[in-house]
Amino acid sequence: MSELRTWPTSYGPIVQRKIYANLFTEIIRQNKCVLCAACMAVCPTNAIVILGETPRLTGVCIKCGYCYYACPSTTDETFSGFSEELSRVETRVFGVEREEVFGVYRKIIVVKEVEDPLATVEEGVIRRLMMFGLDKGYFDVVGFPGYGEPVTKYMLMPPRGKWEAAASIARSSEELSRVRLKPLTPGLTYNSVRGAFEELIGGFFYGVDPLRVAVFGPPQHIRSVWRMRFSWSEHKKLSKTIVFTASYFYRPVYAYKDLKTLLANKGVNLDMVEDWVFHPDGIEFIVDGNSVKFSYSELDSAIYKGFRTIFDPTGEFADISVGLLNNVDGVVIIARSEEGVKLLDEAIGDGVLEPVDFDLDVVLDGLRGLYGGG
Ligand code: SF4
Ligand code: SF4
Repeated sequence: MSELRTWPTSYGPIVQRKIYANLFTEIIRQNKCVLCAACMAVCPTNAIVILGETPRLTGVCIKCGYCYYACPSTTDETFSGFSEELSRVETRVFGVEREEVFGVYRKIIVVKEVEDPLATVEEGVIRRLMMFGLDKGYFDVVGFPGYGEPVTKYMLMPPRGKWEAAASIARSSEELSRVRLKPLTPGLTYNSVRGAFEELIGGFFYGVDPLRVAVFGPPQHIRSVWRMRFSWSEHKKLSKTIVFTASYFYRPVYAYKDLKTLLANKGVNLDMVEDWVFHPDGIEFIVDGNSVKFSYSELDSAIYKGFRTIFDPTGEFADISVGLLNNVDGVVIIARSEEGVKLLDEAIGDGVLEPVDFDLDVVLDGLRGLYGGG
């Protein structure tokens, strides 16, 4: 944690907060960026643009520092990081501290897989929960990285590769039911929130109900919500707009250009890929009706580097986390917050998902195993 520079003036001390230059030096250049786009979404002058899968300063920086203090990988004078401040963070997020290595949980259930060819197993389940949340008025919009309706109007630089995930939004369960999920790349999650906010004129205007957004994405991205709320600026416009979060358990997320090059060297053109399936031992790509499978270790060098710097196998700061475990037949759902339990209970009660019998000890051991224990 570095000291902030303070300048004495006749009006009192002026604190020089950290700005984009610090974000670039400490995070982006050190390959600690997870491409969540929180920095881009909070910048008041739209000075940050994603170029070559990297947040770059291309506009006028007024040195407000918002970008630095929205980034899940930064620390500052009042926040020394998620792991160092675990009890304080969890008490503020969930009202309790963890008793398990995989984080706070209020409820764990296992449900049957749902039929959803346009999603991974985990996102198929999350899709159902989010659709239910939209229908029941838990939130108004869902933002996610995927291949849905991209908020390109606010992206300045939309994705260029065919399978480069875009920050997307769905305004109804019908809209969400049609989108393709299972993103291969990080997908700039928070651009979806900013896009939703600006497009739907949510917010803090007199007489207008604040927009309520649910976000789902990789565990690393969910942390940005809390980093924003805990910073000196709080980023209320964006962070308070987010009323619900869901995460899938960690799985590899790739840098598009690196994955494209790696696959090209193996004779596969990523832009010609028609579909893919995540298997426990690798990814199967469908090209021209043929199947080509690569193990995760073969694709390892294309993982977006920042994802290696935040260890969070289960989405520890999401209201709901969804994932698969060896030796557990079905999809595991962890409800961590009271709101997560409420949504889950109501969805199960309405028959949105089908619970299956399971042995809690086996699931707990499996979750601990993701952290090297169990
Ligand atoms: S204007 Fe503020 S948020 Fe935008 S790049 Fe500069 S310091 Fe970051
Ligand atoms: S991790 Fe997110 S907030 Fe931090 S630099 Fe990367 S895109 Fe910006």
